[in-house]
Amino acid sequence: MLTAHLPSGYVLARLAPEGHRFLLPAALIGAVLPDFDMLWFYLIDQGSIHHHRYWVHVPVFWAAVAALLLPVLALWSRALLAPGLVFFAALFLHMVLDSVGGGILWGAPFSGHLFALVEVPASQPHWVLSFLLHWTFLLELGIWGWALYLWRKGRCI
Ligand SMILES: [Zn+2]
Repeated sequence: MLTAHLPSGYVLARLAPEGHRFLLPAALIGAVLPDFDMLWFYLIDQGSIHHHRYWVHVPVFWAAVAALLLPVLALWSRALLAPGLVFFAALFLHMVLDSVGGGILWGAPFSGHLFALVEVPASQPHWVLSFLLHWTFLLELGIWGWALYLWRKGRCI
């Protein structure tokens, strides 16, 4: 997914059943956090490893962090439990959306296969153009449209 992670976090926060002042920031941060690995991907690894193989894109890593952190929040900071849940939900939404055309290590640590719903062929000179011109980009446009609709609808969080 190229462009719709941030609006997907917005949609998630807006659909959350409970209002909390940290819900929106938690959802937005969780929705984009894994892609900060692009800095490492370009600056350190020189693009040699698919960035979806970094630990920030591995579901079992975030499941383990959530399994440790959410009970702590539930016991000692119950007010932050809802933002915490939304944060991890946004992280998993990120990985689900990346699974549409990009591939995610859903089987890690038992499998090194990048699971993808569809494969986006390298039909254009640059991979970004291949993704922009593939039918799966309509999903991104749909998420943007949904987020814009909710934003215009103006429900307060
Ligand atoms: Zn990603």
